[in-house]
Amino acid sequence: MTTRYEVRDSIAILTLDNAPVNGLSHAVRVAYAEGLEKANADASVKAIVVTGAGKAFSGGADIKEFGSPKALAEPNLGSIIRMTEMSNKPVVAAIHTTCMGGGLELALGCHYRVVSPGANIALPEVKLGLIPGAGGTVRLPRVLGVEAATSMIVSGEPVPSDMLAMAPGQKLFDKLVQGDLLEGAIAFAKEKADVRPLPLVRDLKVGHPEADGYFQFARNTAKAMAKNFPAPAKCVDAVQNATKMKFDDALAAEREIFVNLMFTPESKSLRHLFFAERAASKIPDVPEDTKTRDIKKVGIIGAGTMGGGIAMNFLNAGVPVIVLEMKQEAIDKGFGVIKGNYDSQVKKGKLKQDKLDQRMGLLSSTLSYDDLKDCDLIIEAVFEEIGVKEKVMGAIDAVAKPGAILATNTSTLDVNKIASFTKRPQDVVGMHFFSPANVMKLLEVVRGEKTAKDVLATVMAISKKIKKTAVISGVCDGFIGNRMIEQYGRQGGFLLDEGCTPQQVDRAVEKFGFAMGPFRMGDLAGNDIGWAIRKRRYGEKPNMRYSKTADLLCEQGRFGQKVGKGWYDYVPGKRDAIPNADVEAMIAKHRESLGITPRKISDDEIVHRLVLSLVNEAAHILEEGIANKASDIDIVYIYGYGFPPHRGGPMNYANELGLFTVAQMMKKFAQNPLDDAKFWEPAPLIKKLIAEGKSFA
Ligand code: NAD
Repeated sequence: MTTRYEVRDSIAILTLDNAPVNGLSHAVRVAYAEGLEKANADASVKAIVVTGAGKAFSGGADIKEFGSPKALAEPNLGSIIRMTEMSNKPVVAAIHTTCMGGGLELALGCHYRVVSPGANIALPEVKLGLIPGAGGTVRLPRVLGVEAATSMIVSGEPVPSDMLAMAPGQKLFDKLVQGDLLEGAIAFAKEKADVRPLPLVRDLKVGHPEADGYFQFARNTAKAMAKNFPAPAKCVDAVQNATKMKFDDALAAEREIFVNLMFTPESKSLRHLFFAERAASKIPDVPEDTKTRDIKKVGIIGAGTMGGGIAMNFLNAGVPVIVLEMKQEAIDKGFGVIKGNYDSQVKKGKLKQDKLDQRMGLLSSTLSYDDLKDCDLIIEAVFEEIGVKEKVMGAIDAVAKPGAILATNTSTLDVNKIASFTKRPQDVVGMHFFSPANVMKLLEVVRGEKTAKDVLATVMAISKKIKKTAVISGVCDGFIGNRMIEQYGRQGGFLLDEGCTPQQVDRAVEKFGFAMGPFRMGDLAGNDIGWAIRKRRYGEKPNMRYSKTADLLCEQGRFGQKVGKGWYDYVPGKRDAIPNADVEAMIAKHRESLGITPRKISDDEIVHRLVLSLVNEAAHILEEGIANKASDIDIVYIYGYGFPPHRGGPMNYANELGLFTVAQMMKKFAQNPLDDAKFWEPAPLIKKLIAEGKSFA
């Protein structure tokens, strides 16, 4: 990792070279500063071109240095930008492919910028709960205007270079170079070699004719769209500073906001998630260079709720899919749902008609297993009954080609047992999608005792292709996510028994930041599903205490949104949860039958009983090796269960609380005679970490 230096035809070329995206590490910055100095000292050099090696100009800060002293060590990003501005010879940034964050801030310090078409230009710091910290908020409005710059900084989204280069009045790019960028940049640098004074972005004027009104509007919008995150509104503040303050004062103010945000729990959580997501694809005993199997065609058994959604993932990624069902009607129904989903995307303008046709063109169906012979991956999504799974896995095993991966989408059944229904358990793996499977980002990849390493590597790779975040789980009842949700559900039931209403619990949990409280979630997922699981699970564990309210609810047929009534009532076509007096009376009657006098329970108790029930179960899961790392569990809960991202997941939240406090709270909950004292015994891992002064991180 360095910045390469060469002189071609009286032009010095500084090439940022730090794969994969030329992150601006300390070593790169040092070499850049040396190069710039050398070029300025060399009388034969007339101008300087800065570019990036390989597939980026620069993606910004080097994430490997994140949080380490090296990230801020001199020369820091601000210093090399200032040094670039002060160069006596013109500096031309030659931008291609990716120019983001610190990369764009560096380019804005150059005297000129030329760019290739199709490059992604962004200041994405807001996605990590930050604002740009090296002049981005002060310089970008000067070249793009206040509104365009604010929208780029607040959203963090990339904009194609051609679009920006074509914008009327823009001063970001001096030239759009078709063809060889470096040649174009050298020619441009020669043209400008003798032009003085050197233009600086800092010297440009910036303002807005309706400044106060505009910034108020932008701030309100940012706050409304990112309720739990301070950074988007701070981005607006920083741009407003750029219009009101002298350049260097605005720069200092930006720095101050940046540093303050760095220490917010929201930014810490988002940075934690950023790393957690990258770490999730790494499996301790599966080397990263493990050869993967080719997946050119996918077979899916079952065209129900899950089968259809799973199929869409592969169609969206351009992978042909064949779906097997028992009857043609089931196929017609399932394909109707898929087509309907795509149609509504077309109507909303999110999908072009020709793309829809292309995707539907990749989809075929069959009633015969023989037609699955050429599939590289076959996923069963049939009824959740072990007998049905046995029949289906046997039939797949009989026809699948050697080396095909056989996956099950079971949510609760034993993947080892399912693997044993075939003669090739090494090729069997769980692919646990979440409903709606075409929307939810999470995929639990369930590793059976005999699952081959290259099968895991292949499934992790294909999950990336279909834009899922995959997490490895070992085999246990419910895998990572649903095993934890069982304890959460039990606490929800106890809270009703002790005096809460469903809406009180949901409100508290939603205020904490969950997308949905447990009872609204039950209504959405279908209360009958949990009922069936409880019958099986608590049939096997008769001593496990749980509240019977949910069973009583199901006995009344209140299965949730799909039947218009559950914990709440629903009006057709709407998702609003309307409290129902009969349900509350049923809860009260059940409470009475248990001889419980209701008490007022605080939101704090509600939230912590629910969240820490997840944490304690998760600690057992970690200890048993079902999950490889705590951050995987955070990913599962944020992408699969609506845990608030600004809290960074249950494990990150527990770390923030401090495990000592976590254990104290658990011990307190254990003293409640209506709760489950045995469950609240802090998991041995928690005790061990406290003793060692450590956290889950
Ligand atoms: P579903 O009832 O909607 O669909 C199952 C489909 O499988 C039906 O269309 C049925 O005709 C077909 N089928 C049943 N037996 C078959 C056989 N022998 N051969 C061919 N087709 C057969 O069920 P679902 O909700 O899609 O669930 C499917 C699987 O996915 C289950 O294992 C379930 O546990 C799991 N899962 C469901 C969810 C969810 O939220 N619904 C989430 C994750 C995993």
